[in-house]
Amino acid sequence: MARVYNFSAGPAVLPEEVLREAADEMLDYRGCGMSVMEMSHRSKPFAAIMEAAEQDIRDLMDIPDNYRVLFLQGGASTQFAMIPMNLMKNKVADYIVSGSWSKKAFKEAKIFGDARCVASSEDENFSYVPDVRALQLSDDADYVYICQNETIYGTVYHELPNTNGKPLVADVSSCFLSEPMDVSKYGLIYGGVQKNVGPAGVTIVIIRDDLVSEPLPGTPTMLRYDTHVDAKSLYNTPPAYGIYMCGKVFQWLKAQGGLEAMKERNVEKAQLLYDFLDQSALFKGTARKEDRSIMNVPFVTGSDELDAKFVAEAKKVGIESIKGHRSVGGMRASIYNAMPREGVEALVRFMGEFERENA
Ligand code: PMP
Repeated sequence: MARVYNFSAGPAVLPEEVLREAADEMLDYRGCGMSVMEMSHRSKPFAAIMEAAEQDIRDLMDIPDNYRVLFLQGGASTQFAMIPMNLMKNKVADYIVSGSWSKKAFKEAKIFGDARCVASSEDENFSYVPDVRALQLSDDADYVYICQNETIYGTVYHELPNTNGKPLVADVSSCFLSEPMDVSKYGLIYGGVQKNVGPAGVTIVIIRDDLVSEPLPGTPTMLRYDTHVDAKSLYNTPPAYGIYMCGKVFQWLKAQGGLEAMKERNVEKAQLLYDFLDQSALFKGTARKEDRSIMNVPFVTGSDELDAKFVAEAKKVGIESIKGHRSVGGMRASIYNAMPREGVEALVRFMGEFERENA
């Protein structure tokens, strides 16, 4: 069996050790005689899985006691609505639009109130993160919203906006657990897990206690944070198998040395690729240098024809899903936690060969 180097933006590569362990436990989870997939979400073994998963993510991210951790469904996109439905008490919120995902969230929030775009980088196809030092925030804003790592454009905030005490809400879907973050600086952090944490189907929300309160009138029960806080993510059937897999990834991350160690490795991997791009005569990174993500690296040759050739030839040597998103074109290498350094080395080597043959 040959595994490819999977550079997909998500669903994405998972640690091989985790997949093997899940395979070993598939038919008989630790003497239960059944798979976790077949198990009641109210059973003792599953309660233990859930409890351990929550504790492990708390340990990894050093989540303060006054934050709740929720394992929800509906993808990150459902949060685009849940956030305003639950947090927009004054019906005003400030959004920083740094890419397609924050733009979608902004658009969704407008359904519920006066969402205001306080900064945008759309003028240069979202190739940079707007300057957050010069923000004019609304006095009555209920929260300030960012997408911390824009998956499509490969940008990341290196500095958080000063929100003047207003809750900062962050979509961390594509940088979840890639490096330590100071949770206390945020009111709410959320992400779909299908990039860096587990299989598609689980959305993790980390919410500060004081933000769990009466939502806008008419908010459906399933879209209220208090529903899921009160029921400890077991109001209805949770995405049980996905949570189990996330739990395994948390354990794997702990065994790797935690988020400091992951950051070190992720920076090294990204540096390999960026160093190559910066000296290449053929390939060019599309994100502004200062704002480059260490998770998603978009790059182009400048020729659609060569881009397509690169993607096709890369596939032949086991470099998969390297095609860029249509909004940027070219290529995108998503190099999440589970992408081994050897995968990035193989990519850089192949890029070098391709350049020599095609430049
Ligand atoms: N936010 C970001 C940053 C994303 O990259 C994505 C998906 N690629 C989403 C939100 C939407 O996630 P989902 O498909 O889970 O709704």
